[in-house]
Amino acid sequence: MTCDWKTCKCGKRDFMSSRNAEKALGRAQAKRSRRGDAAGSRRGLKIEHRVHACDFGGFHLTSESRASFENRAVCK
Ligand SMILES: [Zn+2]
Repeated sequence: MTCDWKTCKCGKRDFMSSRNAEKALGRAQAKRSRRGDAAGSRRGLKIEHRVHACDFGGFHLTSESRASFENRAVCK
C-alpha cells in the first residue's frame, strides 16, 4: 500500500498537490460506488466529491470519513 499523503497541521490528510488529491478522490469514489452498487443503491452514501486547499496549505477531500482514520493508522 502506497501512502501519497501526509497528515496536515489541521489534522486531515494532506495530498500535497491538487493532482495528487484528484487521484485519491477518484480512488475513493470508485470504492464507494462499488459499495453502493452492492447495497442496491448509491443514494444516501456520503462520498468525497471535491478537493480544497486549507489554511495550512494542505490539499484535502471535502468529506473525511471513518475510513480515512483507519487509513491513517495503516499508513503510520
Ligand atoms: Zn489542512
